[in-house]
Amino acid sequence: MKVVKKIDCAGTNLNIYDVPVGIMVSGGVDSAILLYYLMKYHTKPIFIFTEGNNVKLRKNGIIAPRVVEKCIQLTKNINVFHHINYNIETTLESLYEKPRFAVRDFGPIRIVYEGLTMNPPNDIAENLAPELDFEHTRNTDGNNDLFHSDNKFYMPWANTDKKGIAKMYREENLIDTLLPVTRSCEYDQNIEFFDDIKNPGLGHCGECWWCKEREWAFK
Ligand SMILES: [Zn+2]
Repeated sequence: MKVVKKIDCAGTNLNIYDVPVGIMVSGGVDSAILLYYLMKYHTKPIFIFTEGNNVKLRKNGIIAPRVVEKCIQLTKNINVFHHINYNIETTLESLYEKPRFAVRDFGPIRIVYEGLTMNPPNDIAENLAPELDFEHTRNTDGNNDLFHSDNKFYMPWANTDKKGIAKMYREENLIDTLLPVTRSCEYDQNIEFFDDIKNPGLGHCGECWWCKEREWAFK
């Protein structure tokens, strides 16, 4: 597997490989911009993986195809295959199940891209929605590994926070095109925090940690 191009994405490097690749797309801003760059620069087939779950009313399964469609319009690349599966709830295991299966058995897929970013600086991250727990594993020290699982998974944004992602949207003029079809909200009717917050449907609740992170990045 050879790196055929290195793309400068508003200061963050993105490797483009000479093999068919996979990518995990949730419909959020991070994976959407990664898909956009891949579709713009990668010339071999791209296999897209999305999981919708009943707990979150399968919203990822509705939003992600809109992101794919917008990326097709923007890049004119139709050499993509979108695999959507559904589950009762999404766990780390379920999320990786299909991509891992693909890497193992589809043969030509040698690597799967993931749009995971670094958290905002701690003092900001802790105050975005203090009553709500957030993902602490996204270290802010800039020393996160870009690869995992025997180098089969590649996370090019692992040392870039959402402000870096916002810069990419601006650099590629995607603020009025791709950004509006993405969704970052993690509204969950089963968690007490959301009891007094209006169900945003497919929009943004504006109150959860992920809505606040997006606001912080793009303001
Ligand atoms: Zn929200």
